[in-house]
Amino acid sequence: MRLEDILFSQGFGTRRVCAGLIQQGHVTVQGQVQTDAGEFYAPEGLEFTVQGTVWTFHEKAYVLLNKPAGTECSQKPSTWPSIYTLLPAPLRQRPQKAAVQGVQAVGRLDQDTTGLLLLTDDGAFIHRMSSPKHHVPKVYEVTTKHPVTDEMVQKLLAGVVLDDDPKPVKAAACAAVSELHLKLTLTEGKYHQVKRMVAAVGNRVEGLHRSQIGGMVLGDLAPGQWRFLTAEDLALLK
Ligand code: URA
Repeated sequence: MRLEDILFSQGFGTRRVCAGLIQQGHVTVQGQVQTDAGEFYAPEGLEFTVQGTVWTFHEKAYVLLNKPAGTECSQKPSTWPSIYTLLPAPLRQRPQKAAVQGVQAVGRLDQDTTGLLLLTDDGAFIHRMSSPKHHVPKVYEVTTKHPVTDEMVQKLLAGVVLDDDPKPVKAAACAAVSELHLKLTLTEGKYHQVKRMVAAVGNRVEGLHRSQIGGMVLGDLAPGQWRFLTAEDLALLK
């Protein structure tokens, strides 16, 4: 692969812009300035810098974001800032692979929901993770308006009927953590599912945070921060 193609594939601009960056000495690989745009071997994980920005080569980008409250999971938000503004330009500019450019959120969280959000430019991964057949468990920490009762927990586990489907939806796991705190695991992703399920048992969601998808936990990433997933992280999502 030519070095300009490597930079292009990582979202650093058009091939022409990337060739210019190389010629002007703005690109280093393993600490060496590279002014020759010739053939280059780019193994997964190779570190390089572009105008001082350190970047890691990933053929496909898999990103973990700790979504802060007050952000929308949309490219064209209606009211709140888009989560995409939290990502650096290369992640937003990676060349179009499917219908859209850059990484895309794997499912959506509501504007006021915080926590673990995955983004990628791998369309097959988005499809697999979002497929109802795949049943990837997602864990939500729910702060409730009213005390959580045993009866509520039992109903959430047994299944509740939501207004758009007569088939009941169940929590895969559910436990009261404290009086106003419920931990809920879902394997589907219907619109406002947690809020509607909690409302269906006579309570109300005051705060919602996703802490885990599959075996992968959010960890100590600060709100608004992102990082690339490692191969170990990806294995936890299988
Ligand atoms: N369920 C909801 O109600 N909202 C979310 O953001 C995610 C799951």
